[in-house]
Amino acid sequence: MRAEELAKVLKGELRGDPNRTVRGFSIDSRQVNPGDAFFALRGENNDGHHFVEDAIRRGAVGSIVEKDLRVGPGFSIRVDSTADALRRLALYKRALYKGEVIGVAGSVGKTTTKELIYHLLSHVAPAYRSKGNLNSQLGLPLVLSNMPLEARFSVLELGASAVGDVRRLVEIAQPRIRVITALGEEHLESFGTILDVIRGNGEIFMNFSEESRAVIPHYALKYYPLPKDKVITFGTGGDVNSEGIHLSLKGTEFKCMGVVFTIPVLSSGVVDNALASFGVLLALGYDPRDFKEALQTFRAPSGRMNLLDYERFIVIDDTYNANPPSVRNALITLASLRTKSKKVVVLGDMLELGKESKKLHAEVGKLVVELGIDLALFYGNNMEEAYRECIKHGGNALFFGKKEDIMDEVLKYMKDKNIILVKGSRGMKMEDIVEKM
Ligand code: ATP
Ligand code: MG
Repeated sequence: MRAEELAKVLKGELRGDPNRTVRGFSIDSRQVNPGDAFFALRGENNDGHHFVEDAIRRGAVGSIVEKDLRVGPGFSIRVDSTADALRRLALYKRALYKGEVIGVAGSVGKTTTKELIYHLLSHVAPAYRSKGNLNSQLGLPLVLSNMPLEARFSVLELGASAVGDVRRLVEIAQPRIRVITALGEEHLESFGTILDVIRGNGEIFMNFSEESRAVIPHYALKYYPLPKDKVITFGTGGDVNSEGIHLSLKGTEFKCMGVVFTIPVLSSGVVDNALASFGVLLALGYDPRDFKEALQTFRAPSGRMNLLDYERFIVIDDTYNANPPSVRNALITLASLRTKSKKVVVLGDMLELGKESKKLHAEVGKLVVELGIDLALFYGNNMEEAYRECIKHGGNALFFGKKEDIMDEVLKYMKDKNIILVKGSRGMKMEDIVEKM
C-alpha cells in the first residue's frame, strides 16, 4: 500500500512522500519491521508520539500521529485519533479478506487454542494468526491490519475483561467460525459476576448468520440461544469428546473419535483446547483423525505449562498468568502425575478477582490439600488466604511476603526428580523464580 492510499483509508492528512510503500503496521517501536508504518497510540502509561523517532530509526517508513510531527525521511499522516484510525484500517483490511476467519474467545485457553487451530490448519493451507497474546482493543486491530490477504485461514484471539469488549472485537474481526474455549472466573473485578463473564464472552455470537458456526464447550450450550445445526460442542456430553486421558512427562494422551492422540503438552486442560480445535476442523469440513501426526508436533506457547527437565528435578513453568480455572488445571495436572518424587507448587496471587478474591484464594488452599500436593509455597497478599486455608485443612505450606525469600526454600527441593510447579498472575512475575532455578 502507498502512503497516499493509506492516508485516504485513514481519512488523514499526509505530509511527506505519497509514494512510499508501506509493508506492514506496528504500534510498538521495539517491534518495528523495516517498511512498517508506526501508529503513535496514547496509552495509560505511555504516549506513542515519544517513540516515533525510535520507530523511524528502526526502519519505519512513516507514522500515523495526532499532532504535527514529522521525523526525518518518514511521512506522517495526521488523524484525530490514532486508535480510531487503526480500527478503521482493520475494518478496511477485513473487507478485502476472502479467507476464513476463526475467532477465539473464552475465560481461559484462548492463546493455546488459537495456536493449536493455527498449527493444525497450517498443514492444510497457508494460515495466519494473532501474534502472541495480541487480543485487545488495540492488539486485535493491529493483527487485522497485518493480515496477509493470501492466507486461507486467520485465527484471531478475542480478549475481554468487561462486558462489551468482545462485541467491539467481533465488529471488526467478523469471524465465521466462533469459538468459546471455556467459561470460568476471570477478571471479576471488571466483569462483575460469572454471569457477566458468560454474557461478555457470548458477545462472540453477535450478528450470527446463516453461514456462521459456533464451537463451544457442551456445558455452555444452555447459556446461548444458538441454532442447533450451527453449533459443535466439545467436552463431556459434546459432539467431540475425549476418553482415556493419560498425563505423563511426555505429554498428554487422549482418545477421540476412536483414535489415540498425543499432544506434547503436560496439561489436562490442553485436551479441551485440542477438542475445541477439532470442533473447528469439523466446522471447516476436515476430519480431526487426519491430524494425529500434526498434533504431535505442537508446542505450547511459553509460560503455559512448559515442562523444563533439569534431570535432577523438573519444573513446570505456568507463569504466564493465573486465574481460578487455570490454577485448578495446573494443580490437577500436577496431582495426576504418577511419581514417587515430591510435588511442590509455588503460587503467586491471582489478581483482578474483585470481591470474590478472598473466597477464590481460599479454595486454592483447600484444593492443594485435597489433591495431596506435598508442599505449597504461597506468595503475595492474596495467597495468604490460601496459605491459611491450606494449613487449616492439614496441608504442608509456607507463606512468603517477599519474593526474594522463596528461592531459599525452593533450593531444598531441586533434587531427587522432584516436580516443582510455578504459577501466578502476570503482575506477580513468577518467572523470576523459574529463571533462578
Ligand atoms: P489470557 O486471558 O491471559 O490471554 P488465555 O485465555 O489466552 O489467557 P492461555 O494463555 O492459553 O489462555 O492459558 C492461560 C492459562 O490457562 C495457562 O496456565 C494454561 O495452562 C491454562 N489453560 C489453558 N486451557 C485451559 C483449560 N481449558 N482449562 C483450564 N486451564 C487452561
Ligand atoms: Mg491469551
